[in-house]
Amino acid sequence: MSEMTTSSRSRVLAGPDVFERICEEILRRERFLLTSHARPDGDSIGSQLAMAYALDALGKQVRLVNADAAPDHYREFPGLDRIEIAERCDAEADALIVMECSDLTRTGVSGLEGHYIINIDHHAGNRMYGALNWFDESAAACGEMVFDLIRALGVSLTREIATHIYLAILTDTGSFHHSNITPRTFDICRQTVEAGVNPAAMARRVFDSNSFGKLKLIGALLNAMELTDNGHLAVLAIDDDMLAACGCTHNDTEGVINLPLTAREIQAVVFFKVVASGDVRVSMRSKYDVDVRLVASEHGGGGHRNAAGFTVPGPLAEVRPQIIARLGKAIAEGMHRQEDDE
Ligand code: 5GP
Ligand code: MN
Repeated sequence: MSEMTTSSRSRVLAGPDVFERICEEILRRERFLLTSHARPDGDSIGSQLAMAYALDALGKQVRLVNADAAPDHYREFPGLDRIEIAERCDAEADALIVMECSDLTRTGVSGLEGHYIINIDHHAGNRMYGALNWFDESAAACGEMVFDLIRALGVSLTREIATHIYLAILTDTGSFHHSNITPRTFDICRQTVEAGVNPAAMARRVFDSNSFGKLKLIGALLNAMELTDNGHLAVLAIDDDMLAACGCTHNDTEGVINLPLTAREIQAVVFFKVVASGDVRVSMRSKYDVDVRLVASEHGGGGHRNAAGFTVPGPLAEVRPQIIARLGKAIAEGMHRQEDDE
């Protein structure tokens, strides 16, 4: 039954024949290069490695490259050491499979332009930069799409593949919090559990793996949190002094942005990080109809309605009030729609 749901959905949303074409091209090519976005998250890592294990099973040659290393707590997952970290890649390949990237620059890796590109993504605003573009905004995670592909290629769900698909879904749904979760999300998860995934162990590995330093950092960040817009917007900011005081790196900030949303009043969170270049990296999360992707796209970034980001030149003191004001507007509009819906 799940196979039926899978293929009918793909045909409708992949555009005419794109899904079938991707299968054909994968089967007839030999050497694959796989990449995903810079600062990889659970969906990018999970999609990439599930795909790699599936290609292994088909007897293909596989290389994986990303611009940045995965956060520490992903490093114990199978195959992480296969991913090369490089800002440029001149590897030869018969096809480059790009997952989770709305445009090729999102990879953060240069030298990829000349390849035969298969683009698999679920972010709104995908630029369709591949020879084959499979875009499905309704997928709760890119890992759902990779699952479809793997099954259609006739590869069985090994424990490694199932682990990475579950990792992709668990993290990209915000541990089953976000709005694009569908029955098929659970159907895929059911199949991964049948293939040997232990959900409790996965949750512990992904969410209960903080260092003491990270706990201190969470305390410091929440202590310094500012509330605006009648308590509907939470503002977090981090600088190198705060990181150093807690013995942390930027990697340790992962996931912290979701904590303020656990307060009932808070509709959106913005997290400002000043990075080494002096640029300001802006991450946003929201609830319901508060559209943070729109705010990100106005600044050259992207993401989803409830999780998006972008990078702007500093200084922080200058950009901060502008972005807070823009988010105030997004909250007012989103809350309006919410009331209309009810
Ligand atoms: P995060 O805040 O965790 O870095 O990103 C949240 C979501 O927004 C993810 O889906 C991520 O891929 C997307 N995103 C974050 N930063 C950017 C960006 O600079 N450009 C685009 N296109 N998407 C982004
Ligand atoms: Mn994703």
